[in-house]
Amino acid sequence: MNYTIPPVPVTSLAVAGIAERFPVNRIFCVGRNYAAHAREMGKDPDRDPPFFFMKPANAAVDASVPVSIPYPPKTTNFHHEIELVVAIGKGGKNIAASDALEHVYGYAVGLDMTRRDLQLDARDKGRPWEFGKSFALSAPIGAITRAADGGHREEGAISVTVNGGVRQSSDITKLIWSVSECIAYLSEYETLEPGDLIMTGTPEGVNAVVAGDVMQGDIAGLSGISVTVAA
Ligand code: MN
Repeated sequence: MNYTIPPVPVTSLAVAGIAERFPVNRIFCVGRNYAAHAREMGKDPDRDPPFFFMKPANAAVDASVPVSIPYPPKTTNFHHEIELVVAIGKGGKNIAASDALEHVYGYAVGLDMTRRDLQLDARDKGRPWEFGKSFALSAPIGAITRAADGGHREEGAISVTVNGGVRQSSDITKLIWSVSECIAYLSEYETLEPGDLIMTGTPEGVNAVVAGDVMQGDIAGLSGISVTVAA
C-alpha cells in the first residue's frame, strides 16, 4: 500500500507477562459512574443510562513503566481521574450483559486526565467536551493484565496519590454501571471492535496537578502506574 503521507503508527499498550502489545483502537469513557463523584461535580447520581465520551487513540500513553506526560496548553486546572480500564479483545454488537465479560481481553489502571476548566465551560455552554477531555497524551494506562491470567475485576480498591498524599480512594464495587453493563449498553450504540478500551469512570476526589507532581495509581490485582506531570 502506498500512502500519500506516512500513516501514524499504531498506539499500543504493554501486556503483563508477555511481549506482544495491545493495539489501541477507540477509547470510550463513561461519565459519572460513581455516585460520590457525580455529587462533587454538582450532579445527582442516579440510574439513568450511562453516558459516554471518547478520547482518540493517541490519548493513550504506555505507563507500564514510570512515565511523564506534558502539562497541556490552555488550562490552569488539570485534573486526575483514576479509572479501571477495560480492554476489549472480542468485538460485537448488542452484547448481553450476561455474555459481556467474554469480550474482555484484560484490565489496566488508567488516568482520564482532564482540562477541567475547559470541560466545565463547555458543559455549561452545552458544547462538546473534546477540548476538556480528548487531547493527545491524556490517558496514561498501565500494563494490561489478561483476564485469562487475573480474572475479572468486579471488586477491589482503586486509588491515586499525588506526591504520596491520597487524593482518590474507593472500590470498584461502587461503580454505578458495572463493567458488564457498560459493555452491553455501549454495544447497542456502537459495534465494539477488538482493541477498543473502556475507561469506566472515576470515584470522588478529583483534583488538580501541577508540573512536577507525581501521580501513583493503583487498583487491586493490577499493575500500578507512576505518572509525572512535566513542565
Ligand atoms: Mn473520567
